[in-house]
Amino acid sequence: MGLDTRTVMVMFAMLAFMFFCLLQLAGLHVGRIRGVRQWAVANLCISLGLSLAYFYTYPTPGHHWAVVFGATLIATGICLQLTGIQAFKEERSNWQVAVLIVSLVFIQGIWFGVMHADNSSRAIVNSLLFAMVYAASARALLIHIEPRLRIAYWFTGLCFAILVVVMLVRGIMIWLLPAGAYGLYVNMALNPLSFFISCMVQLCVTFGFLLMLNYRLLTDLQVIASRDALTGALNRRSIEEEALRLKARCERTGNPLAITMIDIDHFKSINDRYGHPVGDEVLRRLAKIAQTSIRADDYFARYGGEEFCLLLPSTTENEAWALAERLRITYAEMIVEIGVESLNSTISIGVADSTSIGLEFTSLVAAADQALYRAKQQGRNRVVSYSSMD
Ligand code: GH3
Ligand code: MG
Ligand code: MG
Repeated sequence: MGLDTRTVMVMFAMLAFMFFCLLQLAGLHVGRIRGVRQWAVANLCISLGLSLAYFYTYPTPGHHWAVVFGATLIATGICLQLTGIQAFKEERSNWQVAVLIVSLVFIQGIWFGVMHADNSSRAIVNSLLFAMVYAASARALLIHIEPRLRIAYWFTGLCFAILVVVMLVRGIMIWLLPAGAYGLYVNMALNPLSFFISCMVQLCVTFGFLLMLNYRLLTDLQVIASRDALTGALNRRSIEEEALRLKARCERTGNPLAITMIDIDHFKSINDRYGHPVGDEVLRRLAKIAQTSIRADDYFARYGGEEFCLLLPSTTENEAWALAERLRITYAEMIVEIGVESLNSTISIGVADSTSIGLEFTSLVAAADQALYRAKQQGRNRVVSYSSMD
């Protein structure tokens, strides 16, 4: 076996330190994404832990402590990776479990490493404890998630699963050895090989996390680029893109595509009377009502100013009219409290579908706009469908 355990440790200690620096830098520009700092510190702990274990063989008094603190630091590192994943996923970090595992590694290190000098038991218990933390990390990542994040999650989760197997095999192999045969630097293939594989996979895990971070930043950017900042509704560019996709789908399936154009009545006078912040709040409330009234595959967008648009696949004009009427009533019943005053307003809605107009988005918008104009002419606070107009 050409690999030397200490060389492997020093090499990976240096690489882990470089990852610490890299993650620290990455952490400067991740905005509200959590968990990056924990991963940075995790790599620092692993780097220091591996460096400490390097001093293990020197026959100076108390050299056993090097391996006790080394293993404890590595345990802290992999527990921080787990809590970092939980923070990244916006879940509550499991600090109690992390503290318990790190304490167990430390206490059993003192027990088997310093007080009773039983290297095999120390290594077996550590392998099992590490395997448990790795398994928890793998479980947190091998989940159903949106396709864009899936590759990075599953790659990292798979690396953690490999680490579980490596730790279990290592524990079993040490257990099968004759009593007293195991030592950290005893000349056998098991140690350098298992250290080499686990350190390599640990590096892949950090690559995986950086990949997760990258995809997450991309996803966040796409959300920012496709949504209206005030209401969270899709913006005009996005609804036009969705309309193109829906057109192709409806042409294939032959299903109708319905559209509704929604406009707040006398919105200018709300702004004039109560001020723009109240006007903004009214826009947000309308968006919230609309977003909660539609199905998962319907689209809601802010088309401009105080004008919104609903794009409803596989929906007829009549069905769209019924939805719009429910929306109109719910909105009319909504009251916004402004100090002692209370404000309520109404909306007008125009509805059209593709059966008579075709699937072209601009034609659908034009038809729904005509119906909306008619609703305004007829006194507002009503829903008018394009086909009912003479
Ligand atoms: P109508 O019943 O005919 O629709 O009358 P209206 O007053 O609602 O129509 P108009 O188009 O004249 O007024 C739209 C107003 O919406 C004017 C503009 O200042 C306001 N507005 C557009 N965008 C925003 C916004 O983001 N926030 C606020 N507070 N007001 C906005
Ligand atoms: Mg208006
Ligand atoms: Mg308007």
